[in-house]
Amino acid sequence: MPSVFLKTYGCQMNERDSEQVLRQLQDRGYRPAASEKEADVILLNTCSVRDLAEQKALRKMGNLRALRKKNPAVVLGFLGCMAQRRGPSLEKDMKGVDLVVGTQKFHRVSALVEEARQARLGGRPRFLSEVGDEEGSESAIRDHVLSPRQVTAFVSVMQGCDMHCSFCIVPTTRGKERSRPIIEIVEEVRRLVGDGIREVTLLGQIVNLYGRRIPVKDGKSAFVQLLEQLEEIPGLDRIRFTSPHPRGMKPDLIGCYGRLHKLCEHLHLPVQSGSDRILKQMGRGYTAEQYLRIVEQVRRACPELGLTTDVIVGYPGETDSDFEATRQLMEQVDFDNGFIFRYSPREGTRAAHEKANEIPEKVKEERNQELLRLLDRRAQEKARQRVGSLAEILVEGPSRTNANRLTGRSRQNRPVVFEGSERHLGQVLQVRITESTGFTDYGDPAILG
Ligand code: SF4
Repeated sequence: MPSVFLKTYGCQMNERDSEQVLRQLQDRGYRPAASEKEADVILLNTCSVRDLAEQKALRKMGNLRALRKKNPAVVLGFLGCMAQRRGPSLEKDMKGVDLVVGTQKFHRVSALVEEARQARLGGRPRFLSEVGDEEGSESAIRDHVLSPRQVTAFVSVMQGCDMHCSFCIVPTTRGKERSRPIIEIVEEVRRLVGDGIREVTLLGQIVNLYGRRIPVKDGKSAFVQLLEQLEEIPGLDRIRFTSPHPRGMKPDLIGCYGRLHKLCEHLHLPVQSGSDRILKQMGRGYTAEQYLRIVEQVRRACPELGLTTDVIVGYPGETDSDFEATRQLMEQVDFDNGFIFRYSPREGTRAAHEKANEIPEKVKEERNQELLRLLDRRAQEKARQRVGSLAEILVEGPSRTNANRLTGRSRQNRPVVFEGSERHLGQVLQVRITESTGFTDYGDPAILG
């Protein structure tokens, strides 16, 4: 039985795509290889969001080619966003690669792998590339490879993005916005629950703008209709979604917090900047004040909300006062956590033409550090307040840092580690928080149910 090793770079969407590809290959008789050294097929599912991510995948592939000395028939392939962006040019840039498969062709991977393998085994390797558009590709990602006792799963509800933010390569790599039908997603989640899943995270680049072409019903957008139908699935305990866009945070969706009990009290809402001038240049379609108003409304509907965000520092032309506006917005919102990115230009985006206005790396780094310190300070203060409180967690498995402990996540999406036993796996439990590092909480095993 041939074996496959699949390495994934980048976001949860990529993890989900990799899972689908692995399932396809397993259905064709491939088994997962324990390491790349013993695999007959090695695939890198790539990310394009930053230049660094592309360079990493290219370096990795460069090293993998050395495995051919021992096994000349090993098939090497690039999948995903970088494959989509660079396309067949990868044949020139990375000699010896057999396959390049773009983001709308994941469903073709196993057939192409098989073709490439036969060619290699026959001593006549061929370069195969498929990166075109594919009608219906948004519905192709629907099979799962679940590990034993897995209780959470990602569900892809849409692909692509029509927003064209100036810094973002996603509309190029993932194509136009395409949503799956509600009924198909509900069926997939029902199947997952039947297989033991208790929490789903709905995935989409602008997930809350899901189904813009599906008619609004009783004042409810397609996304809200979807959430309501998922709420009704017996055995499903929790629903999350990522990543929403502030423009999709309309009253019908905000009203779901508190009303739909399975919807977790967590929102990851990228703000990107607190400066209206920069937000306009980015083409984000909202002002700082509009963002603040959304936060206020969601918090009013859901006082327990855990709120996290993405921020870019050092966008071309970002002045000290633009940065100060971002810093102030962050102080004002008081996020629970956030990802701070130092801007780096992506070829093929509008912002990449702003070379003259580029911000020195040193300044980007200072701004990055300042926001990280702000987040950390507030996380420590909030952590102290949490000690002694109860948290509802879904127990996911052993802790990554200590296999004798278990870990789960609170409804606010905070990791909680505790000393439990086998029988707690997959359970929803109340745990009393005894300590916290700021971003990870520790629970008291004494009060476990
Ligand atoms: S909304 Fe998100 S995915 Fe779409 S272009 Fe903007 S940053 Fe990229």
